[in-house]
Parts: sequence; structure tokens; C-alpha cells
Amino acid sequence: MLDVVRGTANLDHIEGALNSALAPGQNVRDPATAQAHAGDWSEAPRTTPGLVAYPRTPNEVAAVLKICSEHGQRLVVQGGLTGLAGGATPMTSEIVLSLARLNAIEDLDTVGGTVLVQAGAILEELANHVEAAGWYFPLDLGARGSCQVGGNAATNAGGNRVIRFGTMRELVLGLEVALPDGRLLTMLNRVTKNTTGIDLKHLFIGAEGTLGVITRLVLKLSPLPTASTTALCALPSFDAATRLVRDLRRSLPSLSAFEVMWADYLETGAEVCGLRLPFDDAHPVYVLLETLGTDEHAEQTALETNLEAALESGVVADVIIAKSLDDAKRLWAYRESIGELLGRLKPFAAFDVGIPMPAMDAFVESVGAELERLFPNQRHLFFGHIGDGNLHVLSGPHESPTSLHEVERVVYAATGRAGGSISAEHGIGVVKKDFLHFSRSKEELDLMRAIKSMLDPRGILNVGRVFPEVDE
Ligand code: FAD
Ligand code: ZN
Repeated sequence: MLDVVRGTANLDHIEGALNSALAPGQNVRDPATAQAHAGDWSEAPRTTPGLVAYPRTPNEVAAVLKICSEHGQRLVVQGGLTGLAGGATPMTSEIVLSLARLNAIEDLDTVGGTVLVQAGAILEELANHVEAAGWYFPLDLGARGSCQVGGNAATNAGGNRVIRFGTMRELVLGLEVALPDGRLLTMLNRVTKNTTGIDLKHLFIGAEGTLGVITRLVLKLSPLPTASTTALCALPSFDAATRLVRDLRRSLPSLSAFEVMWADYLETGAEVCGLRLPFDDAHPVYVLLETLGTDEHAEQTALETNLEAALESGVVADVIIAKSLDDAKRLWAYRESIGELLGRLKPFAAFDVGIPMPAMDAFVESVGAELERLFPNQRHLFFGHIGDGNLHVLSGPHESPTSLHEVERVVYAATGRAGGSISAEHGIGVVKKDFLHFSRSKEELDLMRAIKSMLDPRGILNVGRVFPEVDE
């Protein structure tokens, strides 16, 4: 509503100003193109923007922001649009700043193990590029083929290998950010240790584009693992999964993924992807394990020894160990069915809550039962990166917004009671904004707003995401 009150500058005028800063063809008003920018993967209402700007350099990003700031024109930043929180979905009268053409890999330091990359580079392309040079970028998630490294930093993405390598925050050494007023803040640090005052990059990592636009990043690489093992385990209970992760963390230091799937998730995922069920018998909980190391024989032996012990003690009921890369892919396919499931269960409610491990089992039990009681005709699937206490819940299809809200109420109320966090990795965006108070105090929210108004005094950038603005 406020856009109307403030009187957004008209598009012709903005386009004229932007054309003076960007080369021809970088501002697009064609509705067919703009339609592809109408929203992310969430259920936030889609809006086709009137104009999409595609800057090709960090200075051009800064110039777009400066012009929007001077004209009081609101804009939303878009990376690969794979977000699940609606943060990149345009609101009425916002224009779009897309990072799609700011996507070069500028410099790979093969001695120090760092890479300087532009924000619009696709995660999977970056991973392949550094692997070809014998290095490894460990961030990995289902959206790897479309999400951008800038979007990964803006949401502080997690994914499958956090248990070993940490979230995006741990992988960013340096950052360049264009501020809403058009200043370019170049903080492209390349060294691991740097104690020189406030580490400003952390303000922008996880801020979901509310404070500035990430234009370039220096990322920390790891030596390329040359041996990996993968196994799918069937477990008698979730309690067994907690024991397994505890034991493996101690005795298998190369453990790099520990993904838990409750039976409904694995079975529905197999159904929608046309996969055969992995075991003859059904089990309540499944765990997909991965280790990454350098000695094939040693990795395989360590995994087998650990899993044999787990089978003997009854922690694991059955197991399939991959014998080849193709086998490993087949096992990962059960977990990777998430992309297909998100498409099939639309309109869905998707959650990425952080739940303390001791409370996890009861949480899944009680939330599952309540959702089943309220919505017996929908699917309610539980899975997650349980080594990090990060649980995903996917519930759908819910045709009415009221049902979606009811599901949110059930999940977030239970999260609050469990002392958990309402978002472990996808961010707040617009879809979780009203629930942020479950996880953050009034004092914290006030400070966030104060930082927002200091960096974006004209209120133009990603307004209305994460927290309600003062004047909203
Ligand atoms: P977008 O969706 O385009 O944007 C996300 C937010 O960041 C928006 O608020 C946007 O305004 C802002 N933004 C984007 N680029 C910039 C920039 N350069 N500067 C400032 N702000 C910016 N996430 C996980 O963490 N772990 C998972 O395991 C995971 N699995 C997923 C699986 C699937 C199948 C899908 C569809 C999504 C998954 N996600 C996961 C969510 C999503 O992929 C990540 O949040 C990803 O990091 C978003 O990147 P993006 O480039 O698509 O960002
Ligand atoms: Zn996830």
C-alpha cells in the first residue's frame, strides 16, 4: 500500500535513468521475459515486474541502486530464484535487479585454495570449475543447478554437507556489496585470519538482500576428496539415528553427510520419481550417509567396520553400501526426490526448522499426528540434515491459504515449545516474517531495523522482507 502513498516514480522515467547507466539490452520491459522473474519456488503470491535490470558489472549494480535511491524506486534483488521463503518474489511496483549476467568466475588461486567469483555464478558451475583444477567447494543442495553463490550467501545456505564443512557463512572469506545508496563496499579479503575490526561481511551474509546487493565473493576451497563412500541405512527408530550420528562423528571423522528421511518421505519420493523401494521390508527411519576422503580402501573399510558394529548392536536394521559412483547416485536419488516432491505437492507449506536433538523425535511424532488429524488427505513428509538439528517438513497440496496458515501455526507453535528456530537455512523472506518473534527478541528486531534504516534510509531495497519495516 505504501508504494501508492509514496508515489513510485513512473517506469518510463526510471527506465530512461537506468538506460543512461547500463548498456542497451540490459533493461527489459518485455512481459514475456519479465514473467520469468515473477517469483521464487515458495507460495508467496507471484507478481510480474514492470522492468528487469541485468547489470553486468559490480559498478553497474551500484549505479542501478543509486538511481533507484534517488528516484525512491523500490527494487528486489534476484539470484537464481530457488529460494523457498518468497524473499526474491517481487511486490507490486518493485522493479527487479537480476544478477543473472554478473556470473563470471574471475580468479582461481590454486595455491591458496580460494576463488573470486561474481554473485550470479551458478553453484554447480562453480563447483565443477574448481574441481577441474583439483579443488573442492563443499556447499551442496538440491537447487545446485540453478541457485547462485550470491543467493547462497544472502540466505546463508546450508544443505547436505554442513555437518563437515559448515554453512555458507563459514565458506565466505571476502565479499563485495553494493549499498542501497550506490556505494560499492569492496571487502575481498583472501586470507583466513584477519582481525581488523568489525567483520562487516557477516552483516550481509544471511540478511536476504535487505542491507545491500552482494556483487562478488571470495570463497574458501577445500582439497578435492578423491575417495567417497555412500550408504543407505534402515533404522528401527529415530532414537537409533541419534545414536548412529553420535557414534559415527566419533569414529568416522570423514563423515560428510548424514541425511535422515522418515518412511513417508522416502516412500513418497520413490513413488513420484518412479524408483524401486531400496529394502524388502519397510522401516520407520532411513539415513543416507556419505564420507569424503583420499584413500578409497581406507574409507570403505572404515565405513564397513562402523556399519557392521551398528548392525550388530541393532542401531541399524539393514544397510546398502554403494559399490560404484552409479550406486551412490541411485542412493542419493531417494533424498534428491525433493525437487520433484516440491513440484507435485504444490501449493505446499515447506519448513526448515532447527530443533534441539533431544526434542526431535517427540516433535515429529506430535506435529505429524496433528497434521494428519487436521489434513488427512494431504501428505506430510519429514526429512532433514539431522546431524545439524535441521528438520524439513513438507506438507501439501493445500489449495486454500487458510489451510497453509493452519499448517504454519501447528509447526511454528511446536517449534517454539521445543525451543527451536523457525528457519535453519532457507531464511525468513516474506513467508516466515510474521513468525520471526518466535525466534528473535524485540531488542534483536529493533537492532535489525536500526541497521536497515542506517544502510537503506530511503527504504528502497528488498523492503518488507525478513522484518516489518518501521514505516510499513
Ligand atoms: P533467490 O531465491 O534468488 O534469493 C533468495 C534471497 O536472497 C532473496 O531474498 C533475494 O533477494 C536475496 N538475494 C539473492 N541474490 C542476492 C545477492 N546477490 N545479493 C543480495 N541478496 C540476494 N537451501 C538450503 O539452505 N539448503 C538446502 O538444502 C536447500 N535445498 C533446496 C532444494 C530445492 C529443490 C530448492 C528449490 C531449494 C532449496 N534450498 C535450500 C533453498 C534455496 O535454494 C537456497 O536458499 C539458495 O541459497 C537460494 O539461492 P538463489 O540464488 O536461488 O536465491
Ligand atoms: Zn535443506
